[in-house]
Amino acid sequence: MNQAFSDQTELDPVEPHIERSPEELRALYRARNDSARRMGARHGLWIAVSVYLLFAISDMMLIPDVAPYTIAARFLIGALVLTVIELQYRVREETIWLDVTCALALVSGYLVWLLPAAETTYVHTFSYYMIFGSIFMMGANLFFNLEFSVSVIASGFILLIFLFALFDFSDDWAYRLTMVIFYVSCFTFTSYVNLKLNRERYNVFLKALEAEARQNEAIERGQALLRLSRTDSLTGLKNRRAIDESLRDFWREWKQSNRNFAAILIDVDHFKKFNDYYGHQEGDGCLVFVAEALSNALNGYEATIGRYGGEEFLVLARARSRKQIADLCETMRRAVEDLGLVHEKRHDGVAVVTVSIGGAFTRKQIGTKFEKIIHEADRALYLAKANGRNCVRLFNPNDLEFGEESEDIAAWLNLAIPQDLVSLVYQPIVDIRTGRMEAVEALMRLKAPDGSSISPNLFVPIAERTGAIVELGRWVIETACRDMLMENRIEMVTVNVSPIQLRATGFAASVAAILSETGVSGDRLAFEITEGLDMEQQPEIGECISDLRALGINIWLDDFGTGFASLSWLRLIDFDTVKIDRSFLHDASMPRGRAMFQDMISLVRNHGHRILIEGVETEEQMALLRKLGIDKAQGFLVGRPVPAKSYPTRTLADASESRKLA
Ligand code: C2E
Ligand code: MG
Ligand code: MG
Repeated sequence: MNQAFSDQTELDPVEPHIERSPEELRALYRARNDSARRMGARHGLWIAVSVYLLFAISDMMLIPDVAPYTIAARFLIGALVLTVIELQYRVREETIWLDVTCALALVSGYLVWLLPAAETTYVHTFSYYMIFGSIFMMGANLFFNLEFSVSVIASGFILLIFLFALFDFSDDWAYRLTMVIFYVSCFTFTSYVNLKLNRERYNVFLKALEAEARQNEAIERGQALLRLSRTDSLTGLKNRRAIDESLRDFWREWKQSNRNFAAILIDVDHFKKFNDYYGHQEGDGCLVFVAEALSNALNGYEATIGRYGGEEFLVLARARSRKQIADLCETMRRAVEDLGLVHEKRHDGVAVVTVSIGGAFTRKQIGTKFEKIIHEADRALYLAKANGRNCVRLFNPNDLEFGEESEDIAAWLNLAIPQDLVSLVYQPIVDIRTGRMEAVEALMRLKAPDGSSISPNLFVPIAERTGAIVELGRWVIETACRDMLMENRIEMVTVNVSPIQLRATGFAASVAAILSETGVSGDRLAFEITEGLDMEQQPEIGECISDLRALGINIWLDDFGTGFASLSWLRLIDFDTVKIDRSFLHDASMPRGRAMFQDMISLVRNHGHRILIEGVETEEQMALLRKLGIDKAQGFLVGRPVPAKSYPTRTLADASESRKLA
């Protein structure tokens, strides 16, 4: 069912009404009327023969002496012509021969009746009765719809037969003249009317043909427009509207006849950078190649594809098994990678265009709305991107990261601030040399409406995905300023700031507003930023960091060593402090781990940053840090995260005097 390139993209010029030659038109006219004429001839002859036989009654009344002969002649000729026409009809004889049979029936019917009738002794009566011969003439010209030439020849013969009979039968010149005039005018008029009728019928046919051609044009044009309105003009694939319709169809079939399918979202990795660097024309070309590779990959599958958004495609595929869809996704991923379209600007070690793919399946509890499957595919796609891109993720409701719980969490996050579900705890950070509590780290806590607490490792990524982190992050900064800094519980608070916040427009301005509202000076705040794969390539993040620096805010690097881009981050941004991830300290209990830990410290130190070690839990660890000359420490040994009220309020003077840990 791969219709990707079968749909036409351009509005086809509608085939003009083909001019036909008069001969062709005539042939078409005959062909179109053929079956009607055959039936007309056959039925007409049956009616004509019936009427012809009925006239046996008038024979008996007007010429009773020869009536047995005329009636016998009537039956004989009637039976004969009906037998012939039925045979012709059955063996599919050409229509013209059916016409000839009708014409012969009229001529012979007249002749065969006239011969015995003329022998009657009722001469006077017969002289009137002869007028009825004109009915045969009318029959040929007007009753039957015969070929014009055939009807004119038939009525001409009837005229001739009549004239012979007339001159043989009567010597009365006045009678002869009257009858000749009557018969000749009858012949002329009926032939003329026949001609006109034939022309009229032909004109009606031409008009109908014209109307039909116009209607066909309109239909073709309508279809071409419909095709265009459902096609993506760039790639030739279905557009969003059309693929949405297909999704509805797949969904309906699944609901009605349990035909499972998968919805697969495909996103071109780092497409914006491709577009910015190579230009829009190249960008368009890239999408066309990707579209072609994807739809070729669908060959052999019962699937359809459409362009879902800018650089996003949606594939709907009938799924017999999860494995089959996983294979399809992998085939598509490889097909794009194998194109080898150069992408020099992505800085993640891959130099070609690739795609991230997220798929979801129909399953019993998936809900009643078809958007649900797209939502799940979208979540899988999100994880594929978070996993380093150029990979496939399939939605699995049993995975924690996909769990139904995260749906609930996403909903709670939206209500977290007004419903007091969110709160802050603060964990001390000490200067190792002096033992002084230098700062506290604000850590967010979320509780479910039933009071149970949810780990930040679970809810922070969800808040980042839904965008709720922007509002929550703002709330964290404001609350930390009010609870800790305005109250002078501590000199400095560090706040975790997600890359999503740094990218959100107006973030620095909202921080400035909080500072001015609370009267807290910017240098009492530090923002902890976790290195991310993408951040280096996003100029807006760099700009935001400079704006924050201009407000006096300190910028710290969190969880150093866990991400991808550590070193380039150190080079690009002048961090005040670098927090080395706690996993390195924990590994330092082993000789190899310790060497690694020391290397890491020298590296950061050589860049001139102050160093904070997270996750200090034991005295041995603290002794090691002292030995290595580390500046700051944080961890359960120093203090667990606790609410603001656990820190006494003081004047700043008090604070600097007495904030030494026991
Ligand atoms: P993080 O910024 O690295 O925070 C330190 C985490 O280590 C905290 O976990 C803290 O409770 C834990 N921790 C501190 N000392 C020790 C120790 O000695 N041993 C061990 N095993 N763990 C220790 P928490 O509070 O669960 O936070 C986890 C992560 O969630 C944070 O890592 C941070 O990345 C994120 N997060 C927390 N609050 C926020 C927030 O307000 N905004 C943002 N964007 N992220 C936040
Ligand atoms: Mg932190
Ligand atoms: Mg950390």
